[in-house]
Amino acid sequence: MTDLALWFDPSKCLINGEWVAPIKGGTLPLYDPSNGAEIGSIARGTAEDIDAAVAAAEAARSGPWGRMSAAERGRILMRLGRMVEERVDDLTRIEAIDVGKPLKQARADAVALARYCEFYGGAADKLLGETIPYLDGYTVYTLREPHGVTGHIVPWNYPMQIIGRSVGAALATGNTCVLKPAEDACLTALAFADMAKAAGLPDGVLNVVPGLGAEAGAALTAHPGVHHISFTGSVGTGIMVQEAAAKNVVPVTLELGGKSPQVVFGDADLERALPFLVNAGIQNAGQTCSASSRILVHRSVHDEVLERMAARYGALQVGPAMADLDVGPLISAKQQGLVSGFLGMAGDLETAAQGVLRDAPNGGYYVRPTLLAGVKPHHPLAQKEIFGPVQVVIPFDDEDEAVAIANGTDYGLVASVWTQDGGRQMRLARAICAGQVFLNNYGAGGGVELPFGGRGKSGHGREKGFEAMYGFTTLKTVAAWHG
Ligand code: NAD
Repeated sequence: MTDLALWFDPSKCLINGEWVAPIKGGTLPLYDPSNGAEIGSIARGTAEDIDAAVAAAEAARSGPWGRMSAAERGRILMRLGRMVEERVDDLTRIEAIDVGKPLKQARADAVALARYCEFYGGAADKLLGETIPYLDGYTVYTLREPHGVTGHIVPWNYPMQIIGRSVGAALATGNTCVLKPAEDACLTALAFADMAKAAGLPDGVLNVVPGLGAEAGAALTAHPGVHHISFTGSVGTGIMVQEAAAKNVVPVTLELGGKSPQVVFGDADLERALPFLVNAGIQNAGQTCSASSRILVHRSVHDEVLERMAARYGALQVGPAMADLDVGPLISAKQQGLVSGFLGMAGDLETAAQGVLRDAPNGGYYVRPTLLAGVKPHHPLAQKEIFGPVQVVIPFDDEDEAVAIANGTDYGLVASVWTQDGGRQMRLARAICAGQVFLNNYGAGGGVELPFGGRGKSGHGREKGFEAMYGFTTLKTVAAWHG
């Protein structure tokens, strides 16, 4: 039996600073993806719990939080960041078991969560308004004010990082929050909210209601008392979230995933590129919105790149999270089925290489990382987000064709370009449709400072960095006539 050693009860919600059982008393089973075993249960919050959480978040706006200086809000966030740092080992273990993340990857998420608290804590008192030169006799200035009650719907792939960037920015700007974590991975959300209480966040400022998307999630997005919604997840759910929010005329940030390319030219530094080419596809078993699932390679180096990527794939080891190998299990049997279904569509495509299973328990949700070659740009496997450890390699002949293929999906989240030609770097950085473009790297270390978000079906709005703080505030213009 997996020992979670939790210091809180995951069958409860955290509302108004109190651990409370869901009003209807429901629970959902909790599984360990590494072996498929049922290891506990979590709260199944419903619309009734969302009502209570929104009421608590609304009331908290007029409590000490509403009157607190930005500097004091920042201090609480920075204290919280230090507490997260002190508990990195606990958070790492919990996330590894809950999500099936290899330990090193789970640890990186916990460290990132602490860093988000530090960054947004430091930024809280640095969000400035402007004075606007205007007619004689007027002084005009702008104020950035919090939206009010913000709803946060978080997926299972990077709970800690996504909570850090979304709740962190919302709190720094003075909002209150209702967080609906994913039903497949809610433990670190509850742990974080418990720490926030201990760090001095006033009751009701951060409320967590675990539960199903169709129940707690839908209730949160449709709630008339919510003033902003931040959603990360699938395109289909994102559309439903935006439709629900539109009925209340509420702004929405959508972060919906992608089919992100890495474009490799003949003059690329392959020694540097190769680890990025593979890691960007298999990190977190490919369950990453910004995973690079398409590798576009100039024909002059296509065979060499394919061969060298295949060698790396052949050495990839897949196994339980606690073994801390290259790749862990997928999150759920459902996700395993979806990814296996995609691999079933490979048909005549060449499987260049696959990773190997090592001591992977029966019942775990494993899929061997798979590198596919000979893929046409319009093949469904080169178009659809697979959300598993699968990459396709596509040859191209010139720069225009590379750009056309790179931009030839419904998505536009991130992209990278590998070339030593400075002019080409600048041209492609402009020509590629994406929220982030990396030149001779991929992901830039995931820096919390770097605005992140999509175009097209990858969504809209920006998370991370200072930019996110604009999204979590509404601008007021004050025009004073003084003669
Ligand atoms: P999902 O979109 O269904 O779930 C994401 C979050 O939304 C969860 O918290 C879920 O409970 C909630 N949700 C679900 N239905 C809702 C509704 N009607 N109203 C409000 N909230 C709702 O994603 P999933 O089912 O967990 O994964 C399916 C696919 O989504 C994956 O295969 C992948 O392609 C994609 N995905 C993308 C990301 C990303 O980072 N962009 C993250 C997770 C999943």
